Amino acid sequence: MSNEMQELLPGGSVRWVLSKEERQSIAESLDIEEHTFSKLKGNIMTRTREACQECGKLSGLDDFIQNAMEMGVHSRDFIIDVLHHGPQAASPAHGLQCSKCGEHFEGVWAWETEDWAQ
Ligand SMILES: [Zn+2]
Repeated sequence: MSNEMQELLPGGSVRWVLSKEERQSIAESLDIEEHTFSKLKGNIMTRTREACQECGKLSGLDDFIQNAMEMGVHSRDFIIDVLHHGPQAASPAHGLQCSKCGEHFEGVWAWETEDWAQ
């Protein structure tokens, strides 16, 4: 169901509406100012958010960014570009780790390739 944390979109995808806390955490991970991605309402995913079984944090874009930076799978510039335009390519569904406690969220995760800022 839609609420202030997520919005169900036509076609079955889900916009994870960025919270204030997530914006701060993303800005910190990437060492950028929050206003530089103020147009981004939220990332568009193939499934709804889940709470971390360990600490209760809701899965968020901040987790994907922290995971990507930690594993070195994407450059900082690449991730910043995604914040502005959304992902340019599909990704295979993959695991996701909680950025707060390190626990793995259950299942696999994938995003929709469309302009997230729209
Ligand atoms: Zn956690």
